Amino acid sequence: LYNIVQDLKGNIRVYCRIRPPLNTSVQNIIDFIGSDGSLVVIDPLKPQKDGKKLFQFNRVFGPTSTQDEVFRDTQPLIRSVMDGYNVCIFAYGQTGSGKTHTMRTSSEFVIWLLMIFSNSLPKERILSSSLTMDTLEIRSCVSDDSLVLPDATLREVKSTIDVINLMKLGEVNRAVGSTAINIRSSRSHSVLTVHVQGEDVTGGNILRSCLHLVDLAGSERVDKSEVSGDGLKEAQYINKSLSCLGDVITALAQKNSHIPYRNSKLTLLLQNSLGGNAKTLMFAHVSPEGDSFGETMGTLKFAQRVSTV
Ligand code: ADP
Ligand code: MG
Repeated sequence: LYNIVQDLKGNIRVYCRIRPPLNTSVQNIIDFIGSDGSLVVIDPLKPQKDGKKLFQFNRVFGPTSTQDEVFRDTQPLIRSVMDGYNVCIFAYGQTGSGKTHTMRTSSEFVIWLLMIFSNSLPKERILSSSLTMDTLEIRSCVSDDSLVLPDATLREVKSTIDVINLMKLGEVNRAVGSTAINIRSSRSHSVLTVHVQGEDVTGGNILRSCLHLVDLAGSERVDKSEVSGDGLKEAQYINKSLSCLGDVITALAQKNSHIPYRNSKLTLLLQNSLGGNAKTLMFAHVSPEGDSFGETMGTLKFAQRVSTV
């Protein structure tokens, strides 16, 4: 057991990450990045002073930030899983803003957890599901109120290779059922859950915690004229689940007695790692190009709301 005292201001932290510009001929809307987590965005149509918006987060990773920096900064949080805390890390932002890029460090987190465990017997289990959320069945277990996912498989992993293979399988499953793989993965949520079970060497208490690593669907608004049928249903579902996530976080921020976890499967699934004693980290991903200004502002406003929890 690790007794690291974590200096966490509140239980939700928000990190913003800015993708490097893909097209340097377009105006860059990131005006300023402060080492204190501040960020100034500039409206490309109003480049004067009144077009500047200031945001404040726990940290901002600029376009030149490395995966290593992100990993190092997130490590203490991951480590608190070993102290019995439930932890949820999620990546939010429009398609193409770098969510999957950041969540690729997930495999390192899982492997790192395994390494901490290597002195004792590894008992980590990973939940992997190939189902889309709208068909995913979630039941509550009557005896202890835990969640049961009848169609998901829980697998024990014994080595880093097991972890990597399982994560690859998850990626493949995410793409199945669609000819346009990139569209599929940008319009679906990916949730990787690691269950950790350990025994306190001094007290003999069994300690259980879990880590959710979530690569959310793209947060962009889908133009209803461009999709129909299943595509429209899917788009509406995604918009609903992302707004439910916002509602849950707002309710937590306002310390409401009722938190609407049950309004979407996403929030139901993440319930035990949002609020209460759980520690949550949101990566708000933004694209720096001028034509992304609207979506960037949407993401930053959402993230600002989250950071008040
Ligand atoms: P998303 O998952 O949000 O749709 P991706 O992670 O797929 O976005 O990123 C889109 C593209 O930008 C990819 O080619 C990715 O490699 C690149 N990219 C994203 N973030 C970074 C970064 N911080 N540094 C370098 N390349 C990045
Ligand atoms: Mg992605």
